[in-house]
Amino acid sequence: MAETPMLKFVGVSQDYPAKRAAELRAEDFKEISARFPVEKAEEQASRCSQCGVPYCSVHCPLHNHIPDWLRLTAEGRLREAYQLSNSTSTMPEICGRICPQDRLCEGNCVIEFSGHGSVTIGSVEKFITDTAWEEGWVEPLVAGKATGQSVAVIGAGPAGLTAAEYLRVAGHDVHVYDRHDRAGGLLTYGIPGFKLEKDIVMRRVERLKEGGIVFHQSFEVGRDATLDELRKKHDAVLIATGVYKPRAIKAPGIGTAGIVESLDYLIASNRKSFGDTVAAFESGALNAEGKNVVVIGGGDTAMDCVRTALRQGAKSVKCLYRRDRANMPGSQREVANAEEEGAEFVWLAAPEAFDGTDTVTAVRATKMRLGQPDASGRRAPEPEPGSEFRLDADLVIKALGFDAEDLSRLFGNEDLTVTRWGTVRVDHKTMQTSVDGVFAAGDIVRGASLVVWAIRDGRDVAEHMQAYLKAKAKAAPQKALEPA
Ligand code: FAD
Ligand code: SF4
Ligand code: SF4
Repeated sequence: MAETPMLKFVGVSQDYPAKRAAELRAEDFKEISARFPVEKAEEQASRCSQCGVPYCSVHCPLHNHIPDWLRLTAEGRLREAYQLSNSTSTMPEICGRICPQDRLCEGNCVIEFSGHGSVTIGSVEKFITDTAWEEGWVEPLVAGKATGQSVAVIGAGPAGLTAAEYLRVAGHDVHVYDRHDRAGGLLTYGIPGFKLEKDIVMRRVERLKEGGIVFHQSFEVGRDATLDELRKKHDAVLIATGVYKPRAIKAPGIGTAGIVESLDYLIASNRKSFGDTVAAFESGALNAEGKNVVVIGGGDTAMDCVRTALRQGAKSVKCLYRRDRANMPGSQREVANAEEEGAEFVWLAAPEAFDGTDTVTAVRATKMRLGQPDASGRRAPEPEPGSEFRLDADLVIKALGFDAEDLSRLFGNEDLTVTRWGTVRVDHKTMQTSVDGVFAAGDIVRGASLVVWAIRDGRDVAEHMQAYLKAKAKAAPQKALEPA
């Protein structure tokens, strides 16, 4: 019997692709890790123990066939590995780069529990599909037999793009409407290039365009059309608009110039990476160069702001977070990257006021301590009396997270019901909203979440929309026969 190439986790140690030196990577917006060479990918894939019940897949929101594509990789059957990986995901190379694997697939790998270090699943996933793009194995998007039905997708983020792809394959005319001038949603204008280079996103978008999906960029629903106007034009509508209302800080001086929103800051920086001219960057308002920067928040957006400011040549970058390191929402991997690149974390601290007349000059903050767990089970931070301190600041970036915008008002349709958090309410069995033929998916339903969940929702909602459209097509000729 031929020897299996798998189960090598005892003899072969865990390895990740090498990171560039921190000083070098803080000089540009390129990704920080190299890709595995082919031998390394095969070697790392061979560590998988081919579990009968693969917890990695159970905890991957897409339920990717991880052990199977790891085995194919270890056997050198890369093209088949790609086909399998691609069968459950529209963007495997993107998830391989930016999923928080430590909380999902890798964090639940049995080899991790046995103390050998998980299989490096994300890096292998990225390797497989990057290779497929280079080798020309990624096939063009081919539309299915035309159904004569048309679908509107509002929002070109990962949820909208995934649904658009599957609906096009099913033979529908698909129109994507997005208020930005480029598609991709937060993949394009939120997540910085050092986590996800922009050409990786753009080649996905190009493939969809070449497959006949029509993109209406710089088209804001609510301004350029109402929801009902889109409903009249199309047989079904998907709302995949994400969440964009920044959470506010209430403190004296918060309106001072030089205190900016995280997404305005990141969009300006991402636009610069595309070579655009950005007035607010050129004027210095959204540029950290030479400044003392204070970022407020402890999530992934805050980490992205911190690391962007370092790359723009900030004089100092401090991140203020009201809980401690163990209780922060952001990924520990990203904190470690930020520290290596020169960021300073001020844990257990919250802003009290902002100094400055024409422009901000300092953040006045207070130390916090963790009290009893609150309703969410997390220990609530409370101020420590008499612990006030001051941090010099020429640029303050607010990164406290996002809530949903008021979509029923924005879209001019009061029938569109929302939850008490402002997210769009759907029937979870059909993913349909309170308005007939209007579906919703991604962050606008879940609240701020992850790319991989947006892809999963896009995949699921396409199936539900497909069932709706089929039923509609079936009912249409019957309707025509009914007496008037
Ligand atoms: P989005 O990606 O937000 O896309 C929504 C699209 O809808 C946008 O293009 C927007 O322009 C468009 N739109 C909104 N309103 C309208 C309108 N009225 N008319 C027309 N178009 C409209 N997740 C990870 O998994 N890993 C990470 O490392 C990570 N890093 C992140 C970093 C930052 C800075 C941020 C903000 C988020 C990050 N996330 C990360 C979260 C992730 O980006 C989101 O969960 C995901 O993009 C949600 O996908 P979506 O398709 O629902 O919405
Ligand atoms: Fe892991 Fe994300 Fe890939 Fe799933 S999609 S296998 S969670 S990296
Ligand atoms: Fe392989 Fe780990 Fe998944 Fe088991 S849990 S199948 S060892 S990757």
